[in-house]
Amino acid sequence: MAERSSTSPSWTTPSWTNWGRNVEAHPVRIAHPASTAEVVTIVRGAVSAGHRVKAVGASHSFTAIAATDGVLLRLDRMNAIVATDTARRRVRVQAGISLRNLNPLLLARGLALPNLGDVDPQSVAGAVSTGTHGTGGALFGISRAVVGVQLVTATGEVLEIDEHHPWFGASRVTLGALGIVTEVTLQCVAAFLLHAREEPMPLPAVLEQVDALVADNDHVEFYWFPHTEKTQVKRNNRVIEGTARQPLGRLRHWVDDELLSNTAFEGINRIVAKRRSWIPRVNAVAASALSAREYVDDSFEVFVSSRTVRFRESEFAMPRDALPHVLGELAAWFGAGHENISFPIEVRFTAADDVWMSTGHERDNCYVAVHQYWRTDHRAYFAAAQDIFTAHEGRPHWGKLHTLDATYLAQRYSRFTDFVAIRDELDPGRTFGNPYLERVLG
Ligand SMILES: Cc1cc2nc3c(=O)[nH]c(=O)nc-3n(C[C@H](O)[C@H](O)[C@H](O)COP(=O)(O)OP(=O)(O)OC[C@H]3O[C@@H](n4cnc5c(N)ncnc54)[C@H](O)[C@@H]3O)c2cc1C
Repeated sequence: MAERSSTSPSWTTPSWTNWGRNVEAHPVRIAHPASTAEVVTIVRGAVSAGHRVKAVGASHSFTAIAATDGVLLRLDRMNAIVATDTARRRVRVQAGISLRNLNPLLLARGLALPNLGDVDPQSVAGAVSTGTHGTGGALFGISRAVVGVQLVTATGEVLEIDEHHPWFGASRVTLGALGIVTEVTLQCVAAFLLHAREEPMPLPAVLEQVDALVADNDHVEFYWFPHTEKTQVKRNNRVIEGTARQPLGRLRHWVDDELLSNTAFEGINRIVAKRRSWIPRVNAVAASALSAREYVDDSFEVFVSSRTVRFRESEFAMPRDALPHVLGELAAWFGAGHENISFPIEVRFTAADDVWMSTGHERDNCYVAVHQYWRTDHRAYFAAAQDIFTAHEGRPHWGKLHTLDATYLAQRYSRFTDFVAIRDELDPGRTFGNPYLERVLG
């Protein structure tokens, strides 16, 4: 179980790798349980054989959080809606269902998740366990919508943790450390349409108006092109009742979201991976090619984009007033000529939540995410960015690359010790442990 290296030995055990292709592991066995009862049997069997256990979702975490050399569970057969409470707008789902499959099923029931990130292959359990989030100054990450969790513990006990349970605060973002999540109850909202407005704006203008942009829009985010002052700003707002869907035309969707954002971007990245001095000019041209567009569509169609260009990512949450300083320090690093970076920097916002291990715990945040094409070494860039982010009380996304440990993280989370105490009680033998969890939880 390791970060990839070119000298990895060959193995005969099954192998697993993440989406970013930077983490690989060799579990003793891969199991596909179809029910909570089967998960219990597998966990008990693994414990008595002395193996660790870990569930993976869509393997979309860039960190080694999901890696295991023990028994790996894929919950892809546990992918149904178990119950719908229409009056309270709640659904109970099996934990392996992907957001991509869940969203249309919710729409068919007149429901939606209140907020989403920018892709949808993740499983519900995986997205929730790492604190996956989108953007919205008064909104939260996906885990804040969780109102109940069914958890299989290391002894094979099945726990039901609801809003009244003393461990509720720890049970939504678990980092996979407390047990196997088998079912999740989600508080949804009525299905809604979003009006999307996307337009280029100069970075100084964005920073000047950033408080108003965040306050005046349900969801706002922007992409800043390194080595330029160009950004693309996305505002998504709920429409008034009676507004009709006006989705993007198929040709415009294909040109913008498949051809330019994926096919052409992949080609550009392959070229600049070898011609890194071209990047500032290429970024300036790419940013100038962006144009304004508006459309109205179902919320999840607006939130989610297709991402076929493989990359690695690091993202930190920071207090909102740190944003201009953080971007200024990143600009200074680019300006010092350390490295040329082709991927735009993504900036998002969320409101303070009550989820103990959420990056949003009790703090209104801005998020700054840095990306590197997967064929290019990310380490120097991400290390420099991490130094900037941690100087501003940054909390790393649990599923995105960072090198921080429990000593640092305990200072950033006021309920860190409480979370670790629950872990000690539920999993004293570290059945659900792995080296990443040892590092971040101690
Ligand atoms: C292209 C791309 C885009 C992304 N966009 C965003 C974004 O917009 N916003 C954002 O916040 N993040 C984003 N991420 C990060 C991603 O959402 C998280 O890393 C998320 O955890 C991935 O979900 P997954 O189902 O792939 O989980 P995995 O990566 O497979 O697992 C994540 C963790 O959840 C645990 N887990 C999974 N299932 C269970 C279970 N049943 N019981 C207990 N533990 C479980 C795993 O053991 C592991 O600890 C993105 C990642 C990629 C690759």
